[in-house]
Amino acid sequence: MTEIKDKHITILGAIRAKKMGSIPFVSDYSSELSAVPELDENSISYELGGHSDKVYNCDFIITSPGVPTNSVVIVNAIAKGIKIFSEIEFASWFCKGNIIAITGSNGKTTTASLCAHTLNKCGINTYLAGNIGLAFSEIVLDVKEDDFVTLEVSSFQLDFIDSFKPKYAVILNITPDHLDRYDNNFEQYASSKLGINRNQDDEDFIIVNSDDSVLSKSKFENGIRIEFGFNKVEKGVHKVDDQFVYNKLDTTENICSTDILKIRGEHNQYNAMAVICISKMLGLENDLVAEALSSFDGVEHRLEFVRNINGIDFINDSKATNVDSVRFALNSFSNPIRLILGGKDKGNDYNQIEDLVIKNVEKIYAIGSSAEKIVNYFNSKVDVEKVDSFENAITNAYNESKNGDIVLLSPACASFDMFKNYEERGKNFKNMVMNLK
Ligand code: ADP
Repeated sequence: MTEIKDKHITILGAIRAKKMGSIPFVSDYSSELSAVPELDENSISYELGGHSDKVYNCDFIITSPGVPTNSVVIVNAIAKGIKIFSEIEFASWFCKGNIIAITGSNGKTTTASLCAHTLNKCGINTYLAGNIGLAFSEIVLDVKEDDFVTLEVSSFQLDFIDSFKPKYAVILNITPDHLDRYDNNFEQYASSKLGINRNQDDEDFIIVNSDDSVLSKSKFENGIRIEFGFNKVEKGVHKVDDQFVYNKLDTTENICSTDILKIRGEHNQYNAMAVICISKMLGLENDLVAEALSSFDGVEHRLEFVRNINGIDFINDSKATNVDSVRFALNSFSNPIRLILGGKDKGNDYNQIEDLVIKNVEKIYAIGSSAEKIVNYFNSKVDVEKVDSFENAITNAYNESKNGDIVLLSPACASFDMFKNYEERGKNFKNMVMNLK
């Protein structure tokens, strides 16, 4: 842990470092910050609407998860030799409890939520923090020695760790996402995710998806390796027919049927297997774990069922902001899909889902600033229409649907060209669907 007492710390994004004895300076790109009254109250100096040179006048910088590793302010700070720590690194210095850190390109929120839900149901006091809801630093001072914290951790957060050491580290998958923020360097992106294991020791666990092409080949220097996947694993959880099975050397144990999950799709079976691995390492009872898994309703905006009108299902998967998550969404349904696709492109390669689209998608409704690219890509392959508004995409899809069709918002893109964030996009979708006659 780095000593923070009396240190001048620049904080990009607002967190409560002052209470911990430092002299923070907050710098935020946005011109409005809800924390301003709190900063004033605590006599914390700050600047809004951009980062001035004051940012560099410090002992070290703590970044919030939203600050990209290749942003100018970070690049300049590194060039000036200023040490940078991510917010999870910073908060971990004060954590007395056990850390479960969950990363991956897709499934982090779902798995972290499912994990906290399961542990709490099994009687282990568990906080949920990180990229979801509360920041780690907001809850860390409440965490007691026997408590657990399940953290959703992004690759940006992992870029600036120093001593961050989770007892349980999970990597769900590594597929291209946010490559624009890594200057299109996949190796760099992958290595930041693998860094979750960097400070682990022989008593810690590194839990990885053995069906993932990058992870299956990755060697980890530290920690006890536990795997999960659809194919047999040596130590960990896999699927045999419709059963989740725990395997350890020569012994196997049936945990539960895959049918107990309310969250649909094969990707959610992976997420459940990751949580079962943690439960097994914690020695939780299988029956309790199964009961907990079966009572999890899922997370908003992730393949969320909205409504059925005249035999047509509407599904909100607004959180699918990359091509790989759309691949999993398309695999989750057997009925014909009318797919609302598009938004702010992050360097998407639609080749990854081309075959599935041809097989499962009746028509694509292309929206947002990437509509042209989508139309050009899929034009000769499936029925595709560029739609001028979000609302028209929904009404056109509805009007053209027949009984049994699925209208799926799974955009493969960020939302910033049309909405504040994916939550606003999902909420708009749900409101518009609820207003359909
Ligand atoms: P993250 O927090 O990593 O963005 P979420 O749990 O919010 O992940 O899920 C986002 C989307 O990713 C979901 O809507 C779903 O389509 C897809 N997804 C979820 N879990 C997985 C997984 N294990 N593998 C691939 N895709 C997944």
